[in-house]
Amino acid sequence: EFISVANLATALGVKLELFISQLGELGFEEIAKDSIMTGETAALVAQEYGFEPTVDAGEDEDLRPRPPPEDPSSVPLRPPVVTIMGHVDHGKTTLLDFLRKSSIAAGEHGGITQHIGAFSVQMSSGKQITFLDTPGHAAFLSMRQRGANVTDIVILVVAADDSVKPQTIEAIKHARSAKVPMIVAINKIDKDQANVERVKSDLAANGVEIEDYGGDVQVVCVSGKTGQGMDDLEDNILLLSEMLDIRAEPDGMAEGWVLESSIKPIGRVATVLVKRGTLRPGDFIVAGRVFAKVRSLRNEAGVEVEEAPPGTAVEILGWKEPPEAGDMVLQAPTEDKAKSAVHYRIEQKEREEAMEQITEMERLKRERELERLAAEEAEKNAEEAEEKPDGPKMINFTVKGDVHGSVEAVTASILEIGNNEVRPRVLLSSPGQITESDVEHAAISGSTIINFNNPIAGHIKRMAIDNKVRILDHNIIYNLTEEVRQVLSENLAPTI
Ligand code: GDP
Repeated sequence: EFISVANLATALGVKLELFISQLGELGFEEIAKDSIMTGETAALVAQEYGFEPTVDAGEDEDLRPRPPPEDPSSVPLRPPVVTIMGHVDHGKTTLLDFLRKSSIAAGEHGGITQHIGAFSVQMSSGKQITFLDTPGHAAFLSMRQRGANVTDIVILVVAADDSVKPQTIEAIKHARSAKVPMIVAINKIDKDQANVERVKSDLAANGVEIEDYGGDVQVVCVSGKTGQGMDDLEDNILLLSEMLDIRAEPDGMAEGWVLESSIKPIGRVATVLVKRGTLRPGDFIVAGRVFAKVRSLRNEAGVEVEEAPPGTAVEILGWKEPPEAGDMVLQAPTEDKAKSAVHYRIEQKEREEAMEQITEMERLKRERELERLAAEEAEKNAEEAEEKPDGPKMINFTVKGDVHGSVEAVTASILEIGNNEVRPRVLLSSPGQITESDVEHAAISGSTIINFNNPIAGHIKRMAIDNKVRILDHNIIYNLTEEVRQVLSENLAPTI
């Protein structure tokens, strides 16, 4: 995790002497060839040189999801996970309540329904569907923002008497950008004002390729109030899920996502949607930087279950700290492994925070340095103006070159140019590529940058344009001095 400056220079293919002077420009102080940097700092430096480094910081300590199965078709099917979305008052809650009731009616244990963030419906065929029961886009979105694409299918609810509304369109966009297939449920068809055809044409007008218009998005007419069409909806979900061929390994280390996390009278609980493997009491799991030894699993009926296979959600008891909704859950083979992963992640977080602080400190330091230079500059200009009110106009330059020798040569030859009216003045000169602080300094001091025999990084070019800093880029001294002459003559008072 650590590297010496000398080794880093070798890795980047930069001469050590040059590298050390460039580190100075980047704001590092008292750097010698045997100075030691952390992997993170070295990575930042490497980025300055156009590399895209990855820091290998003891990855083995962490837990990661397994690679996908080699032969996915050999893996069993799992229940689809479905989210209901749509405009406010179009019936999301009513549909979920209806589905939940049917799940309890079919439930063998007589528990008390509780909200855990998801519930499963058992079909007469024995097949199962898992519904996320936090309606609305906020939950869907916040999970997605955290990289958790937990939903396999979106049910888009549109009220037959109200048709497509702003949140309907938003839901369509979310489903599309998450690449989650949709089924349309046209709800409230029991109402007199229901106008199914209008809903269909409005959907088509909003780019939903529904069946009746030659597309493949299924449309089901339902009523959450009377229950009409609800069987069809469930059948359609299963049909689509068969087409999607949703499969997962029921064995191996479990993986899933935290749907919700809360404190209940029985203790700290979090609902986990299992995506692979099977969770059981006694398992060791990690979610974000939180450890749990699974004490018990309970379903949405509040009934303790012995296992949670893929595609089901259970409330888990046994957390040390509350995990966050959207955190990925990973099972560890042993308690030690789980705990060292948590330890690693906590340290990693601390390292990141420390890095942020250092970067911020370096930025502030550089800012102060530039302010100081600008103030000095202003003072110098003022003094000179006082000293020689009729003296030549001084034009500022910064000289950068590949090596020390060329910087000296360039500086010497441009200082020979000039006359009584206008003369060049070199404010800064150093070997190495143009840096951000060179451009910032040039912008403040109104300097033209001379770049001799050096590549210029793309972001530096853009930064120079943005800051209206001119760069003269040459590798032949003669051409360079010609252009410097031209710059000087542009600054001459026009002769009439
Ligand atoms: P949400 O905001 O999308 O969750 O909508 P709700 O489920 O809260 O429903 C809004 C209103 O529409 C409530 O007054 C429901 O009783 C009513 N509603 C929902 N579904 C139906 C239906 O199929 N038919 C009728 N007539 N009313 C419904």
